[in-house]
Amino acid sequence: MSIHHLESAPSTSNPVRLSPVASVEVIGSSAGSPQQSGAASGYLLRAAGLTILVDCGPGVVSALAASGHIGDLDAVIVSHEHFDHSGDLMALAYHRAFPVRRRPLPLYAPSSLRRTLERFDELFGIPTLEDLKAPLRTQLPIVDVAIGSSFTIGDLQVDTLAASHPVPTMSMRFPQLGLVYTADTALTPELIRFSQGCTLLAEATYVTAHGRDFSAHGHMSGIEAGRLAVEADSPLLVLTHFADPRESAETLAHSAEHFAGPLTRATPGMMIPLGARARAERAAASVPVG
Ligand SMILES: [Zn+2]
Ligand SMILES: [Zn+2]
Repeated sequence: MSIHHLESAPSTSNPVRLSPVASVEVIGSSAGSPQQSGAASGYLLRAAGLTILVDCGPGVVSALAASGHIGDLDAVIVSHEHFDHSGDLMALAYHRAFPVRRRPLPLYAPSSLRRTLERFDELFGIPTLEDLKAPLRTQLPIVDVAIGSSFTIGDLQVDTLAASHPVPTMSMRFPQLGLVYTADTALTPELIRFSQGCTLLAEATYVTAHGRDFSAHGHMSGIEAGRLAVEADSPLLVLTHFADPRESAETLAHSAEHFAGPLTRATPGMMIPLGARARAERAAASVPVG
């Protein structure tokens, strides 16, 4: 597998044609911490012959280990440094190093994550074990992503957009798959443009703003995620990153008041088919998926 980094501006021209079989599996959809319903943020993207973990929040590594798919990983992408998206990286690095050393996985992330991971290595490295002296540096070597640029992992293109969030955060678009993962962000005109025509894996942290302005806090409610799907003409809206997963049905109902297309809420284990074939099948069915 070849992995390289592009400095080019985001572009959807002449995309490499991929196998029509692609999917994203929800590993965890909670904001903050693991809940009874499962882990915090984590998604397993399968496309272009690759298995890529997108975000690695608390509980994700145990869920992956239990699923038997943790050994399938080819790369990791982390949207930002907040703990609910990066907290299990050290657990993953340990898993790659001990008791059996596995090949390092490239970790694509905003450069701001680098210093955080260096501190983790200082705190949790084990000086007396060669493979665990600096687990993150050796097992998950970071590839700095300049937010706003595009990069490729094998044949898979990833475009990034600066999210509206208190720390450097990248929303991601996989143009060959017609997929946007918003990561943590408020609703912005830039995000609407970035998401045009794409299936949305969109954060809907709060049920509703209840009259409060969350734009500075950098999150959306179910209402704003629904508006995003309308404005972006999305063929499918999948809500995720729930502050309280027990309220996700209500969040879904709020999105549905705005967005009349297919929508559902992310739950651990859910498999979302992607690509042209999946879009055609959804269009033929023309019914909400959940
Ligand atoms: Zn978050
Ligand atoms: Zn965050």
